[in-house]
Amino acid sequence: MQTATHTRCLRCHRALRAAHSTATGYGPTCLRRIKDAARRITDHKPDLVTKAIALITLGGLVPLRARRIFQAVASSGTATYKTAPQGCTCPAGLRGQHACYHRIAAQILVAA
Ligand SMILES: [Zn+2]
Ligand SMILES: [Zn+2]
Repeated sequence: MQTATHTRCLRCHRALRAAHSTATGYGPTCLRRIKDAARRITDHKPDLVTKAIALITLGGLVPLRARRIFQAVASSGTATYKTAPQGCTCPAGLRGQHACYHRIAAQILVAA
């Protein structure tokens, strides 16, 4: 469970005020862009895309560098992974057969 609140948008760094925004880490405009970007992703299973959006809106994917590499928080909340659209350091990502939902979330944020 993510308990941190965000004072600035993770995407555009504008100050956040609304409770919904400080909980998700994104302002309303950026959140709309993220959801639009997610709708354009058709090359992954819909349930993985849904998990990816949930990860983003729980503030579970934090941009590290140039909005291309992200730190993902594991669903357990204790481990973190380095995630990019091309790869992820989580166990599923390292097996590398299918894109994990962290990678899909990174893809959404890069496209948003
Ligand atoms: Zn924003
Ligand atoms: Zn992953």
